[in-house]
Amino acid sequence: MTLVLDTTPSSPALPTVAPALPTLAGLDRAALAAALETIGVAPKQTRMRVNQLWSWMYVRGVTSFGAMSDVSKELRAKLEGSFSLDRPEIVSEQVSVDGTRKWLLRLPRLGHEARAPEVEAVYIPEAERGTLCISSQVGCTLNCSFCHTGTQRLVRNLEPHEIVGQILLARDRLGDWPGGFSQSHAAGTIPPGDGRLLPSSERKITNIVLMGMGEPLYNFDNVRRAMEVASDGEGLSVSRRRITLSTSGVVPEIPRWGAEAGTMLAISLHATNDALRDKLVPINKKYPIAELLAACRDYPGLSNARRITFEYVMLKGVNDSAADARALVRRLAGIPAKINLIPFNPWPGTDYECSEWGQIERFAEIVNNAGYASPVRTPRGRDILAACGQLRSESVKLRASERT
Ligand code: SAH
Ligand code: SF4
Repeated sequence: MTLVLDTTPSSPALPTVAPALPTLAGLDRAALAAALETIGVAPKQTRMRVNQLWSWMYVRGVTSFGAMSDVSKELRAKLEGSFSLDRPEIVSEQVSVDGTRKWLLRLPRLGHEARAPEVEAVYIPEAERGTLCISSQVGCTLNCSFCHTGTQRLVRNLEPHEIVGQILLARDRLGDWPGGFSQSHAAGTIPPGDGRLLPSSERKITNIVLMGMGEPLYNFDNVRRAMEVASDGEGLSVSRRRITLSTSGVVPEIPRWGAEAGTMLAISLHATNDALRDKLVPINKKYPIAELLAACRDYPGLSNARRITFEYVMLKGVNDSAADARALVRRLAGIPAKINLIPFNPWPGTDYECSEWGQIERFAEIVNNAGYASPVRTPRGRDILAACGQLRSESVKLRASERT
């Protein structure tokens, strides 16, 4: 059973309606300082004002300037006249029988865009943690043959604040701020929390994975800036060890990501020989497996406690034999690695099938016997097409003939 909460406005906005004010929600310190300068905040005061906004927006999660009690009335009025604290607009929210939630989000149009782009974000609650899976691009330039997102052309890169906006929106909807739901929904009428961070043991979102739509390393700078905001210890405060970037294998950017962002890394491997990986993950033609694994070996900070996750989608009759499992173990020798076996999640129109459970178990056993923890990722939210690789906003549908 799926609960669908459709929040689409019943009538389209009239052309005379003033465009929404630009949002400050999700901006980093430099962008906030620049915004404050445009409304006449003196350069001497900017730092202090940025710190105030930072705490209200990222520790307490307020959605109105009116709630910012330590900001002068005059400045609050100026902020209200020029900016908003809007999150991405929710087009729909779906809740799976297993508690997984998926949001289809609409982003404001950029100048040249004919229509507002849409992305998806997914929250996956588990006993020990809660993981938010966020998108980095609208669509994807790559076209991995088993991935639904790959059938959608790239519309654009997300801006840093649009990436952070997904986290803010999810926290709003889950009541994951100090004081619970009151901050976000009462628009400042209920005094927000006391300004202390929500302790991690009480958080609903404990981990963030860049595993939604898009290839995050093709939107490197924006994703890096967004993760700086997400991991800031005086704000959203999600530690870099609890953030995982998943890449299809953009090899030249891997060392740079390690040096500049230093989050955990996941690699979408899916095959152990180039002939097959070329078909499944076509970027492999440019950056073959040996180069990809060399970049992984050199990733900074690796240890037994900090391993690279190798994702391996289980495709029936394609990459799931015992020989494939043994080859996988051989190729990863010497890399501190976890192997994540992902049962293939079907989507309308795909020719692939998920491996039989017995086959997945045999595969996992070979990998486990070689000393790797290899949890089989339980598919979550399949009933709402929220599982890995099923994300694809409906805004841009391609006819089969348009797919390359
Ligand atoms: N573009 C990045 C991150 C997004 S995809 C990447 O490719 O790594 C997140 C993960 O889901 C990747 O490992 C991807 O290969 C996997 N995936 C894609 N389609 C899938 C499907 N239909 N079933 C299971 N996993 C899938
Ligand atoms: Fe893009 Fe990742 Fe899907 Fe490949 S698996 S098409 S890189 S989103």
